[in-house]
Amino acid sequence: MFIPFSPPDIREEDVEAVAAVLRSGWITSGPVGAEFSEALSTYCDTVDTVLVNSCTSGLELSLRALGVGPGDEVIVPAYTYTASASVIDHVGAKIVMVDVEPGSFFVSAGTFESAITDRTKAIIAVDMAGVMNDTRPIYEAIERRKELFVPTNQLQEQIGRVALIIDAAHSLGASREGYRAGSVADFTAFSFHAVKNLTTAEGGALTWNKNLPVDHKELGALLRVLTLHGQNKSALEKSKASSWEYDIVSPAYKMNLPDILAAMGYSQFKRYDSILDRRHEIVARYDEILADTDTVALRHSGEDFRSSGHLYLLRLNGYSQEDRNQFIADMHSQGVSCNVHYKPLPALTAYRNLGFKTSDYPNSMAQYSNEVTLPLHTCLTDEQVDYVANAARNLLLSRP
Ligand SMILES: *Cc1c(COP(=O)(O)O)cnc(C)c1O
Repeated sequence: MFIPFSPPDIREEDVEAVAAVLRSGWITSGPVGAEFSEALSTYCDTVDTVLVNSCTSGLELSLRALGVGPGDEVIVPAYTYTASASVIDHVGAKIVMVDVEPGSFFVSAGTFESAITDRTKAIIAVDMAGVMNDTRPIYEAIERRKELFVPTNQLQEQIGRVALIIDAAHSLGASREGYRAGSVADFTAFSFHAVKNLTTAEGGALTWNKNLPVDHKELGALLRVLTLHGQNKSALEKSKASSWEYDIVSPAYKMNLPDILAAMGYSQFKRYDSILDRRHEIVARYDEILADTDTVALRHSGEDFRSSGHLYLLRLNGYSQEDRNQFIADMHSQGVSCNVHYKPLPALTAYRNLGFKTSDYPNSMAQYSNEVTLPLHTCLTDEQVDYVANAARNLLLSRP
């Protein structure tokens, strides 16, 4: 038996959808992406969604639209993937890194609040494993520090406080208190990378809060221009009769999603409810089989929330980092591919070189040291799910 960690679950209908675009005569951003974008907005209860070539691009796009740059600060957790933080560096702002709560994969509102200064322009929080952040106390913290906020452009003025951006690479379809991921933060960036719940191989989407006091049409247009070289007309618009002329309004990046990829995502989106249900079924089965082991699994549902079931994060009580690594090797020798989410940013060369120290992030380091992520995806059969959980359970229970 070999059980990969997170293979793409591509069905015949996805292949058909991609083939239809290839045959259509229009393969880059166009009508299919527009349909997918509209479906995502409806699903997330937002007014508009901009498709991009990655979640990283989406995060960076939100910072660029907000005009965040040199002299500004953006707060981000130490416990995340590099993309949540690297985008801050890309726009020339200062990364302000904060620790998670003891025994938690999340940063508390109080910690975010303490890190807010008169230079802070945004907080990037992470919906770890597909569990949504509780944004209410974070907004309250931002509100309490409102007098410190110094807006330096029109969008910042309109928002009037530090912006809350969510790295929702994991959390498409998650909900909390009846609100879906995408609808609660100011900006939310999803990932459609190959290992995520819904994939376009590479891709992502940026949506924003319908309650933002902005002209949504204008913001949507600005964001789209920023994905297309700063060009004020898309390739599709230009292809219409006598419509060749365009302007470049800023020397922007190229980060749009072609229709070939959008078709793949839209096709999966049509069965996304069943994808989420299956993921929760697997989580419940893992929880059940591992119930008598000395472990703590991240909760994926509760009275007021339901995750997207993206990652099964398991902490092995009493295990050192070496023990955990041995556990992963032992699982591998039984054909089960596991992973670790995440090695905290200060433990990585790039962030060490920026001056961050692991000793300043003890809670993140503790979470990391005995964490293991079990395979969780919709290619798993019931038999494989039981095989994975029992392999883990036997290893845990046979430990002297
Ligand atoms: C995958 C991932 C990203 C990056 O997504 P891309 O679409 O590859 O840019 C960002 N943040 C987190 C937490 C991720 O897991």
